[in-house]
Amino acid sequence: MREAKFYKKLDNNKVECFLCSHNCIIKNGKCGICKARENKNGALYSLAYGNVSAANIDPIEKKPLFHFLPGGKSFSIATSGCNFQCSFCQNANISQINNSKQNSGAQQKETKPEEIVNLALKHQCSSISYTYTEPTVYFEFASDIATAAKEKGIKNIFVTNGYMSQACLESLTPWLDGANVDLKSFNPLFYKKICKGDIEPVKNSLKFMKKNGIILEVTTLLIPTINDSEQEIEAIANFIANRLGKDTPWHISRFYPTYKMLNIPPASASLLYAAKNIGEKAGLEYIYIGNLPGNNSENTVCPNCKKTLIKRRGFDMIKNLIKAGECPYCEKIIYGLF
Ligand code: SF4
Repeated sequence: MREAKFYKKLDNNKVECFLCSHNCIIKNGKCGICKARENKNGALYSLAYGNVSAANIDPIEKKPLFHFLPGGKSFSIATSGCNFQCSFCQNANISQINNSKQNSGAQQKETKPEEIVNLALKHQCSSISYTYTEPTVYFEFASDIATAAKEKGIKNIFVTNGYMSQACLESLTPWLDGANVDLKSFNPLFYKKICKGDIEPVKNSLKFMKKNGIILEVTTLLIPTINDSEQEIEAIANFIANRLGKDTPWHISRFYPTYKMLNIPPASASLLYAAKNIGEKAGLEYIYIGNLPGNNSENTVCPNCKKTLIKRRGFDMIKNLIKAGECPYCEKIIYGLF
């Protein structure tokens, strides 16, 4: 447990946390919405610091990041807690638990930042991913790991809902190299009702990251009848193309029934391909379909000469023809880090 950053003390032993856009006012003895930060006698503490609840060596493609050192391994970690409560969360067993309750059921292992970095080095991982739950809520821990990782030449990646505050965004810029940010919907009501958040801070984070040179990829999980109207998909694609840039990779991910959304069927292949067509019409240069085994939209194709540059099967990279960040056929610069 560590004293938290990004908070201020208020009267009556209350505190205000401004790590994320919820700006929780927290009474003495209580946690914020994320359940990862607790007010103890008028000071705010990160309960998540050092408490690793998941650690794996993943292909970078699993994040998904397709334009960030493709084919590499990423040491992937999470602590418990999240500032969203999405009904379709795939990791609810670790994201939706209370860090302060010892009987929460999640396995946690106390770990020092240097241990994570040493494990990443030992397993020849080119990056560390802060993923599975929301990395913003364990910012202090992620920041200490990332700073140590950077010194050893290891890159840092957030897989995030993008709900961090402006202060947090500015603080992570010196060490964050890449991010996959969910743009879960373009409907403010979706964010309010299904995620218990707001869309505007997410849009702000997306724009900030792209503008500040963090390699950015965007993911949208398409959920039948919930966020799959043509107008909404168009709005998402146009936002990415016009506000983030046509070179921003967009991952359209297939919904499977999970957590509190067991009554909704999986997204159909035709819906995913229709969304891809909408993205192409918006001018997006790199569109990928995920969670649909055997589909042919996992490869990276040169937007200029249309030659296949990276061939993938699932999370495996089969071949990569990109040389020094360029298409070897027409010299078009390919967005990303290669
Ligand atoms: S990080 Fe947690 S405690 Fe802080 S504002 Fe967000 S939800 Fe609230």
